[in-house]
Order: sequence, then structure tokens, then C-alpha cells
Amino acid sequence: MNACPCGYWGAETPAHECTCSELKIEHYRSKISGPLLDRIDLQIEVPRIEYGQIIEKTAQLSSQEMKAQVEQARHIQLHRFQHASITFNSELSGKMLKQHCQLSMEAEQLLQKSFEILGLSVRAYDRILKIARTIADLDGSPQLAIPHLAEALQYRSLDKKSHSPTSSRQSTV
Ligand SMILES: [Zn+2]
Repeated sequence: MNACPCGYWGAETPAHECTCSELKIEHYRSKISGPLLDRIDLQIEVPRIEYGQIIEKTAQLSSQEMKAQVEQARHIQLHRFQHASITFNSELSGKMLKQHCQLSMEAEQLLQKSFEILGLSVRAYDRILKIARTIADLDGSPQLAIPHLAEALQYRSLDKKSHSPTSSRQSTV
């Protein structure tokens, strides 16, 4: 989706500036906020890029390497859930979620602080843990560490309490 009705919010260039009022943006985004937004796992702000940058940009991981990572993560999850009735981290809930997404004290503090700042719902809380678990699996890490959690939190960029241009730009997480 566009970040605002005109589509230039957060992607302004000298030639194109966002002309939307804060109120207009708030109204536009409120159409998909709340419970629906909670159900979207990954939310990422994608900046506008120039044609030249597309050509210059070389991916850090090749498709082959990505495929190997995904296969590794799948393998870990198959092993993790071999005696369970679920197959994917995304299906974790309740006791199993707690068991497989244990956080260190530092990670717990980071998550708590993020919640206060972002004003996230309980549903978003579970989702972040599950995404962090998958990021750790992609990393081949048995522990759910702070970098995994921090990356998962990055994917909730639409959850911030206020969607006004200035406050959204200063992400504290
Ligand atoms: Zn705009």
C-alpha cells in the first residue's frame, strides 16, 4: 500500500512532495488499522528508489543462499514439531509459544519497552515472538536473541501509536 493518499509520504524527492495533511493520512491509514493490521505478519517501509539505484544495488544474499537458509529453517521447524500437531512457527500459541520463544532478560526488556513506545496489542506481541523465532531459525540460532527480536520489531512499522509523518519517522526501536 502507499503510505499516504498521494503516495509520496516518506518518499519525497525535490520533484515530488507529499501534499497530504496529517489528518488525511491518519484517516487513510485507519482503514486498515487495528485487528486487520495485527494479522499482517510483516510490515516494512519501502523507500522510493531511483532507476540507477536498482541497477547498482546488488543483493547481499544470492537466491541460492536464501533458498539454503529457508530450507534450514524448515528443517529446524520439522524437527521442533515432530511430536506436535503443528508444522510452522506461525501456528505456535499458548504454552508452546512460551516454550519455544523464551527470551533472555535483556530481550524481554527490549520487547516491553517497544510495547510501551509502539502501543502494540497482545496479538501483535505473539506475532512478533513467532516472527523472531523464524528469524532465529533462518540464522540457525537455537536462542532467540536480541538481534532476532529487534529485526522482528522492525517489521511492525505500521503499528506505531501515531501515524503522523514526524513521529513515525523517528522510530525509537
Ligand atoms: Zn501524501
